[in-house]
Amino acid sequence: MFPPHFHHVRQDVTRHLQRLIQINTTNPPGNEIRVATYLRDVLREEGYEPLILESAPGRANLVARLKGTGEKPPLLLMGHTDVVPAEPEHWTHPPFGGEIHDGYIWGRGAIDMKSLIATQLVLMVLFKRAQDAGESPLKRDLIWMAAADEETGGALGAGWLATHHPELIQAEYALNEGGGSGYKIGDQVYYSCQTAEKGFARFRLTAHGDPGHGAIPHRNMAIVTLAETISRLGNTPLPLHITETFRLYIDRVAATQPADLAKGLQTLLDPHQFDHALANLPLTPYQKRYLNSMARNTATPTILSGGSKINVIPAEATVQVDGRILPGFDRADFEHEIRPLLGTDVALEWLDYGAAMEAPVESPLFEVITAVMKTHQPDATVVPLLLTGGTDAKHIASLGTHVYGFAPILWEENPGLINTVHGHNERISIRALEFGVRTLYEIVYHFCQL
Ligand SMILES: [Zn+2]
Repeated sequence: MFPPHFHHVRQDVTRHLQRLIQINTTNPPGNEIRVATYLRDVLREEGYEPLILESAPGRANLVARLKGTGEKPPLLLMGHTDVVPAEPEHWTHPPFGGEIHDGYIWGRGAIDMKSLIATQLVLMVLFKRAQDAGESPLKRDLIWMAAADEETGGALGAGWLATHHPELIQAEYALNEGGGSGYKIGDQVYYSCQTAEKGFARFRLTAHGDPGHGAIPHRNMAIVTLAETISRLGNTPLPLHITETFRLYIDRVAATQPADLAKGLQTLLDPHQFDHALANLPLTPYQKRYLNSMARNTATPTILSGGSKINVIPAEATVQVDGRILPGFDRADFEHEIRPLLGTDVALEWLDYGAAMEAPVESPLFEVITAVMKTHQPDATVVPLLLTGGTDAKHIASLGTHVYGFAPILWEENPGLINTVHGHNERISIRALEFGVRTLYEIVYHFCQL
């Protein structure tokens, strides 16, 4: 089923990723137009007519489309071209060098997510060449969106496109980053496919009190009032909510684990037993924290300010709180949960907000992903993932698109690698990169034949 030149894929995807890493698109400032121009030139060579749309000077988004038969609505491949900053002094090889050492391509964006951009570029080329060579066209248009600005929220990227040019990217399904990493629990291998993503509802709390001299304390001090609220917020778990993705995640992991662990995992689905069951599971502390944040809305205090001089009691103190909300909840629901913890002396002011999203776990695309992974990794299980952080998925989901995050990373190569995302020494193996192209090619091919 692979086009005749598939054996060139390894060289092509490697070369594109090296070049993309060398184009520094650290956001801010972004300058994604330099990547967009590179992608446009490659696509034009293949006969595409890609569009570059600037949301602000230098902040470019690229959209390209391969026409299918139109029997089914389009599939969107979505990605972002910006990266987070890097501190070169902490890297073994330069973060914008794109150098290859021992089979790994090094650089900022090697995983998040210029690797997926390079992969999607190769996919667009392969499907175009197949069609030009006379293979029957896909039943869906294949749209590619390489957007700017994901790392600071996507307002100038996917969010801007969804608002200003929805007709260009409107699709029934989308494939995004956010899932795909392989990992092990016990002896069993899993690949995550992101089906849901938490939203955010951030806020600021302000406590007021009486000013005064630091040498003469009183009973109405803003910092103390605020500290009491922060303590309640930080130490009181919010109510448990079992989403569809969480339930199916637990079901599918439990179904492949030994009986005693399976039983412990299933107990997590009972809100009355969740905390106790989680504490007793033989998992790492990080795994437990992640499971906990998959089952609750959370409110994490992150920025604290108040006072300017050590001998002056300030009349005001503030804290900013990173609120994260589950699919099915909006800001009003969230406020209902946190209000009782705030007390009466603290004012609440909402900051930025992004809705959560959840795509159906039982869907044709999820089934194709599962089937393709079975042929490559027969012993592995694909499980749905509720991402507690954020991607561009929410912008695209707002158009009614079912977004799935699947950027495969081989489980045996993953330990440690995924931790280099946004950290030092980010890198990906050429083998993993090629594996990603092959699996995603098959996923797109089969899904667009259905
Ligand atoms: Zn990313």
